Amino acid sequence: MAFTIDRVDVHQVAMPLLSPWRTSYGQDDSIHSLLVRVISGDLEAWGEATPFERPEYSSEWAHGGLDLLRSCLAPACVGIELATARNVRAPLDRYKGNHFAKAALETACWALEARLTGRSLRELLGGRRDAVEVGADFPVMDSFEELVAAIGGAVDEGFRRVKLKFRRGWDLPMLEVVRSHFPDLVVHVDCNNAFSLEDLDLLRGLDRFGLAMVEQPLHHDDLHHHAALARMIETPICLDESITTPARARLAVELGSCRWVNIKPGRVGGLAAAVEVHDILREAGIPCWVGGNLESAIGASIATAFGTLDNFSYPADIFPTDRLYREDLATPEVTFRRIDGVPHAIPDDASCARQPDPERLRRMSVGSATVTSGQLATT
Ligand code: MG
Repeated sequence: MAFTIDRVDVHQVAMPLLSPWRTSYGQDDSIHSLLVRVISGDLEAWGEATPFERPEYSSEWAHGGLDLLRSCLAPACVGIELATARNVRAPLDRYKGNHFAKAALETACWALEARLTGRSLRELLGGRRDAVEVGADFPVMDSFEELVAAIGGAVDEGFRRVKLKFRRGWDLPMLEVVRSHFPDLVVHVDCNNAFSLEDLDLLRGLDRFGLAMVEQPLHHDDLHHHAALARMIETPICLDESITTPARARLAVELGSCRWVNIKPGRVGGLAAAVEVHDILREAGIPCWVGGNLESAIGASIATAFGTLDNFSYPADIFPTDRLYREDLATPEVTFRRIDGVPHAIPDDASCARQPDPERLRRMSVGSATVTSGQLATT
């Protein structure tokens, strides 16, 4: 069912975290996200992608995304008739890179198509699962005691896998302590590209902990050295930052760079590309799981719908609102359902349209813009 985008509203928001999110690349005290509303006739829908405040996770940053959406991406799409949401990739692809900014707009178009057709996003994407198992994630903390207590809480809540951020000074001794308390728990570590092949001894040291995988140990742009490392350590390598396009997913398969991939729609430019990456990896026999960037309930809902596809076989990085925030920017907030005691995210049905709470949006907004029929108005 074709539609024309009449207007695009873009918001950069800063969502204050309950506690700092510390990784190998730095610390975020609030999460900077891009929220996009697309309006077609009397219908509207919201999308989200979360590049963070500074270009530390990737080369993108939220303020740059706002500027690009305002100056290039939204004007390229307003007034164009789209046969489906998938087709919005064409006008966006003339601009290089900037996947998170594109995804904020592209995911809004998918949400609009869902409203227009009365189908859920899960249905549009071809997902078949009714629920998506989720895992527990812990950033670098002040002490090992604090981490052990947090993991114990997650185990008590029924989480079946735990992901730990891993960086120099929070490395093998941290795993010794975790394993001494939780010898059989499914655990993996995320390095956020902190290391190089010069750190081979440390990376080989991971093998004695029986980890499910090591996520993005080496440079974000380096598929070759990940392939070399895969031949030198036993712990399976999972790529995150390195898989930015379907072509890079194909190359990683050809080189043997990984045995797992974490897919984030924002990182690859939206849902159409994310489904393409998922399908390439499924055909290559490489299982995937859904990653996250601490999005609001809008992004979490998008990730959950995506997570119903059939090649996801490891618990997802989708977080309930109360794990990260005092209040969610959007409503309804994210909650989990226990199935056989295990927390799961439930995909929204066609009647659910998540949107920002207007007062919270005003309070958390850092900058915004509106684009209509090629005309630009900044607020
Ligand atoms: Mg990661």
